[in-house]
Amino acid sequence: MLEIRNLSAWYGEARALDEVSLDVAAGEVVTLVGRNGAGKTTLLRSVMGLHRHASGQVTLDGTDVMRVPVHRRARLGMGWVQDDRGIYSSLSVEENLLLAPVVSEKAWPLARVYETFPVLADRRRAAGTTLSGGEQQMLAIARVLRTGARLLLLDEPTEGLAPVIVAAIGDIVREVKATGVTVLLIEQNVKFAATVADRHYLLSQGRIVEHLDNTEFVAREHDLLEHLGV
Ligand code: ATP
Repeated sequence: MLEIRNLSAWYGEARALDEVSLDVAAGEVVTLVGRNGAGKTTLLRSVMGLHRHASGQVTLDGTDVMRVPVHRRARLGMGWVQDDRGIYSSLSVEENLLLAPVVSEKAWPLARVYETFPVLADRRRAAGTTLSGGEQQMLAIARVLRTGARLLLLDEPTEGLAPVIVAAIGDIVREVKATGVTVLLIEQNVKFAATVADRHYLLSQGRIVEHLDNTEFVAREHDLLEHLGV
């Protein structure tokens, strides 16, 4: 579904991504792991079209989107869940959900969102400001599903969350996968990554240095924790 070929990205003269190539097949969950500063966020932002100082190829279902602006990438079915979650704090949970623009017939109706995220149903009238970190993360994911995105790009969905909430996010990622949505996510939590993903790419200094299926990834857990310095 998603093919990335020789993607490079810069901040000024500094190269943050160096000829990255990777694939994500329809229905897969794939993680990007790597130390802080490895280039993970830059990679996701470049895929979404949010980082424009980039070269190479990004194709979605065979369509080259490299010159396509971000709002049109969204219309093609890419959904970005940023790491600061982007919740409108003065609006209620439900208003945040209702604001999501519909981009395909796969858009989730509110009832389905509330069934999958009972926490959001309970908090539907609560203001964005009053949500916990876990609730914000769920709202951010739900808002993208509301659009009907086929490819979900998640930037560290478990960052800073308590273990019980991390487990709930894991259930949601698996449920999202079960509905046929494809997921590419950044994840520093190796144990979590192993419970949700089919495959993993390890990024170091802007390059892909390893590509592992989940069985290899689990077998290498200790080694990876050491590499990541976590
Ligand atoms: P983290 O987990 O810390 O977010 P990351 O793997 O997502 O790390 P990026 O944020 O993509 O890494 O950063 C890749 C490289 O680009 C790093 O060397 C970083 O210092 C640099 N970089 C990131 N954002 C900027 C920016 N706005 N201006 C200049 N350099 C940047």
